[in-house]
Amino acid sequence: MEKILFIAHTDANGLFPKVALEVLSAALQVQKGLAGSTLTVGLVGENVQTAADSIAACGAVKILGVSGADFGMSRYATDVRALEAIGAAAGATIIIAPATSRFSRALPGAAFRLKATIDTHVSGVQFTDGVLQIQRWYYRQRMMATLTRAARPWILAVDSGVFPPWQSAKGSAKVEAVAVTVTDKEKRTKVTGIEAPSADAQTIRPDAAVLFVAGAGWTKKQADGQTHTKDAEKLILDFLKHAKASLGSSKSLVDQGSEGEAVLPFMSHLNQVGQTGSTPRHPKGFSTCCHGEEPHVVGWRFINERRAVNIDANCGWAQGKADVLYVADAFAVVAKVNELLAKG
Ligand SMILES: Cc1cc2nc3c(=O)[nH]c(=O)nc-3n(C[C@H](O)[C@H](O)[C@H](O)COP(=O)(O)OP(=O)(O)OC[C@H]3O[C@@H](n4cnc5c(N)ncnc54)[C@H](O)[C@@H]3O)c2cc1C
Repeated sequence: MEKILFIAHTDANGLFPKVALEVLSAALQVQKGLAGSTLTVGLVGENVQTAADSIAACGAVKILGVSGADFGMSRYATDVRALEAIGAAAGATIIIAPATSRFSRALPGAAFRLKATIDTHVSGVQFTDGVLQIQRWYYRQRMMATLTRAARPWILAVDSGVFPPWQSAKGSAKVEAVAVTVTDKEKRTKVTGIEAPSADAQTIRPDAAVLFVAGAGWTKKQADGQTHTKDAEKLILDFLKHAKASLGSSKSLVDQGSEGEAVLPFMSHLNQVGQTGSTPRHPKGFSTCCHGEEPHVVGWRFINERRAVNIDANCGWAQGKADVLYVADAFAVVAKVNELLAKG
């Protein structure tokens, strides 16, 4: 009989990050698929009661918590101790955790201490003849593997954007405290603050509903024989601001900087989507001034609804790669869309 442990940390407000609730859905799916299995919840954070109350109705046999000031911040040494203690207290055979940056750092260490096997970037679960199988991608998202393991404990770090967030009315949960004593040495690392770009400068937003992709066309000569890079910059930033979209790019556009051409200053290789770039997950994608060539479009495999605007009716998007292709000037289209978005 499998003992499943869903383990998550709370944020600075004592709440779950969104991915934690998505991964709770995954854990419940695993519990349902494995006959006779039980689900225990483990929580780590300065304060875990509010989060525990929010999932009181999830059907867990018990909720274990490691809490207190020592566990409020993201810190390998204390997080790994908390994960180890909860994993052992639960006697877990399968441990399912959200792949937040905080847990992604500590889970491998906890796996070592628990003598567990770990798989990261889990992007799906399924059952064959009652056996749990997981899915994950290899080789820059080009090959998907379905695999299972006999080894226990088996830790699964599950990626965001795969499962729907678990939802229910909040209740009143009883949290069993798991005691963890932390030495001074283990808590010598302190998070003194977070340096993050302002909301407008932050262009990569994994939780955004829309991915806006800019291609090299934005910096090319337009019908009047001139480039309009400054106009492009304003149109793109306005769209991101209004739609709270995430910004992706084609390789050609981000490569231009190293060639000394006019570039969009907020764009870097981190924005590149495609075979040699990223494979983001968003419900919708909007491609502008990008040709839609295969090495780029392969990075769109997790975008559910795809729209593109290109002046060329024979561009790659027209070859079955977009749900809707608008054959139009992206400067005009995005200006109009921004106008409508600004009106709310
Ligand atoms: C091994 C390998 C790996 C690669 N990996 C990647 C990758 O990870 N990601 C990636 O993106 N590419 C990748 N590429 C490159 C890829 O093949 C293309 O060269 C690249 O995606 C082209 O970028 P683009 O569409 O922005 O530019 P272009 O091909 O120059 O297309 C610009 C487009 O803008 C349109 N346009 C111009 N003005 C307007 C306007 N006013 N309104 C509307 N449309 C307009 C044009 O019609 C044109 O279709 C890779 C290539 C190789 C060989």
